Amino acid sequence: MKISVIGCGYLGAVHAASMVELGHEVVGIDVDQPKVEALQQATPPFYEPGFEALLGRALASGRLRFSTDVRDAAGSIVHFLCVGTPQKRGEYAADMRYVEAAVESLVQVLAPGDLVVGKSTVPVGTAARLAELVTGKVPGAMLAWNPEFLREGYAVADTLHPDRLVYGLPADPEGETARALLDEVYAPIVSAGTPQVITDYATAEMVKTAANSFLATKISFINAMAELCEATGADVKQLADAIGHDDRIGRKFLNAGLGFGGGCLPKDIRAFMARAGELGADQALTFLREVDNINMRRRIRMVELAREVCDGSLLGKRVAVLGAAFKPESDDIRDSPALNVAAQLQLQGAVVLVTDPAALDNSRREWPHLDFAETPEEAADRADAVLLLTEWPQYLELDPVAFGRVVRKKRVLDGRNALSRTTWEGAGWTYRALGRRGT
Ligand code: NAD
Repeated sequence: MKISVIGCGYLGAVHAASMVELGHEVVGIDVDQPKVEALQQATPPFYEPGFEALLGRALASGRLRFSTDVRDAAGSIVHFLCVGTPQKRGEYAADMRYVEAAVESLVQVLAPGDLVVGKSTVPVGTAARLAELVTGKVPGAMLAWNPEFLREGYAVADTLHPDRLVYGLPADPEGETARALLDEVYAPIVSAGTPQVITDYATAEMVKTAANSFLATKISFINAMAELCEATGADVKQLADAIGHDDRIGRKFLNAGLGFGGGCLPKDIRAFMARAGELGADQALTFLREVDNINMRRRIRMVELAREVCDGSLLGKRVAVLGAAFKPESDDIRDSPALNVAAQLQLQGAVVLVTDPAALDNSRREWPHLDFAETPEEAADRADAVLLLTEWPQYLELDPVAFGRVVRKKRVLDGRNALSRTTWEGAGWTYRALGRRGT
């Protein structure tokens, strides 16, 4: 099938190459010329495990190309909408201008029978509004909403083997046609028995924001428990293990630490609250404000803990920050807790060196006032404290004995509760972590 993908960022670029892997002919459209050139030359514009190989294969097949000209989407039958929906400046609501612009340009090239498929995360009600616009401009064209659940770091596997497919469809007979087209697009995934949820626009839109709200709530729940553990001397890791054995609760997303960040969870829960307010249902989501507050408090607590460990003052103290990306296996630094903490430490007088295996270029560009190092050893040179803020596997594998020779003081703050406490303490380090007793 001929497919276009509008917006080739973390979601769209992986989606475009994955659709080629499923057997389709794809054109990826983006307004960012350097990004399009990089993609066309098989150079991923971002770090995502497995994406470079997938992109290379897709381009070599001759069935994938990229363009800045939306007219190149003409002739495709299915058009995936994958542009960004960031938080509006100074407001909780989502900034819909990229979605609006993409649809406005796309309708110029649509033909009757074409299907526009929204994948971006949008406020509930968007699909119905866009469907009117699409069918008003191009009678016979259709719109569906097919939210995306990929996780950065696992984007390729999640796109090719999703745990569910959600289709928000218009009423029949268009709904039936749209469903058949989507089933054809995802044929190998459908025939693998992947669960499908066939529903209306509003439910499909809400599945995504509800899922993210649940995940954010689970993380903030355990982080609230961490606050209590700090107040009582209890241990949040053991607490999480113990409650996680209950399979109604489960252990996943119960890792206490610095909390969530990135380009999705924070802005999605805020946009959800804003939309609930517009719909007169704001009370239903006031708990998300607390979820957000608990999350942001962890960053402040991390800075306090660093000050405590540095004998009560950060002034002039050398601090190594391991990790800049909002999570491991990604170079995404949008709303990164690690960079937020690094900047606070620097503002309070510490000499901070940040390192990351993949996100240094992005960090240098977006946070030019911070200082960076290429390796953990360089970052930790004569450090008074080392902070693990993004749990990259290579940091978890550091040898605390050898690493201890680099620093001035063997003090490690585990912002992700991810290091082996006994190994580090065994090598003579003072180990501190959020929600856990000091030694
Ligand atoms: P991104 O910022 O990496 O990519 C968005 C891309 O859209 C950019 O390359 C931008 O240049 C392009 N764009 C903007 N306006 C355009 C236009 N008019 N025409 C063509 N291209 C245009 O964002 P992302 O992380 O890929 O997220 C995209 C959407 O997917 C968001 O709604 C996000 O919430 C959702 N989402 C993201 C993830 C994720 O893990 N990144 C997962 C699920 C859903």
